[in-house]
Amino acid sequence: MQSRFKGKTVLVTGASAGIGEAIAVRFAQEGASVAINYSRNDAGAESTAGQVRDAHDAGGHSDANVLIHKADVSDESAVKGMFAALLKDWDRLDILINNAGIQKEAHSHQSLSEDFDRILGVNLRGCYLCCREALAHFLSRPGGGVIVNNSSVHEIIPKPGYLPYSVSKGGMENLTRTLGLEYAERGIRVNAVGPGAIITPINRSWINDPEKKRIVESHIPMGRAGESEEIAAVFAFLASDEASYITGQTLFACGGLTLFPEFRTTWSS
Ligand code: NAD
Repeated sequence: MQSRFKGKTVLVTGASAGIGEAIAVRFAQEGASVAINYSRNDAGAESTAGQVRDAHDAGGHSDANVLIHKADVSDESAVKGMFAALLKDWDRLDILINNAGIQKEAHSHQSLSEDFDRILGVNLRGCYLCCREALAHFLSRPGGGVIVNNSSVHEIIPKPGYLPYSVSKGGMENLTRTLGLEYAERGIRVNAVGPGAIITPINRSWINDPEKKRIVESHIPMGRAGESEEIAAVFAFLASDEASYITGQTLFACGGLTLFPEFRTTWSS
């Protein structure tokens, strides 16, 4: 394992489970101090913190540490409070990973406006609020900074039955592109990762049902769902200096899902 983040600090939102947990561990393996944000799952956050400590120990990163910050990213005062507390402990944040996200299934004509507001609130407003606080901090001291957002293949592929989720990820594309452009000259890079179907709790409706899992995987050109660690590796790349000339982009890590899988064989002319 490389140590690309030795001496760096990273905040990962929604790191008490799934992809966020894997991202926190990956950055720790590469030497970063890690702040774990989450909203409700206390045990999950503690478990991630334990894995981060183990990764620091295993990698000989005795200079790195771990923080836990409970905050709902859709709540402006909670986000401000989280950044204030974090910057008291560390005095410097180098990398922000906006990973927190939720979804809920409903036919759009029967859906609830409260759910629309809540999903947009966490997935998009939460990302905006954390970006704003991080950008203000990055600009307040030398050295720039990096933001990587967790988008989805549903940034570009519609997701019937999940309208607010699709809308939030579509919005995330333009948030990433706009901030990438706005801050390109000031040493700040803003990118996104677009995962496909990944084995995490958000997909509990199909990962533990062999028949549903088979159907999901039959649509994926690589023939399998992805692992959180495969997504965490892409976050690490985009946050590292190896991606120093990349900004405003979404890098899809989806086993080929964005390649129009229905056209694997030509069905016209
Ligand atoms: P998950 O349900 O396992 O984890 C979601 C995390 O977000 C949890 O740690 C939870 O505590 C946190 N969270 C939820 N609401 C929050 C809030 N208001 N404030 C702070 N934290 C909050 O889901 P996951 O699959 O790991 O998803 C993580 C991200 O990856 C999401 O943005 C999701 O849209 C995206 N994604 C997932 C997949 C997939 O197949 N799993 C595919 C594409 C994109």
